[in-house]
Amino acid sequence: MNLTKCDICGKKLKDKPVKAGVGYVIFNDFCSKCGKPILDFLKKHKLLDEEEKKLLELNAK
Ligand SMILES: [Zn+2]
Repeated sequence: MNLTKCDICGKKLKDKPVKAGVGYVIFNDFCSKCGKPILDFLKKHKLLDEEEKKLLELNAK
């Protein structure tokens, strides 16, 4: 069992959590609801490389 909790709302994540990170700064795990705005923010500011972006979008679904 490997239950992760969303870093923002504390909801338990059964599926793959959203992981967001910029360079050496790795944020923790988020549920897709909390992770979405973070991903959008990172994308908006072009802080994700293409490879990472694809991965995160997959996880966020
Ligand atoms: Zn959450």
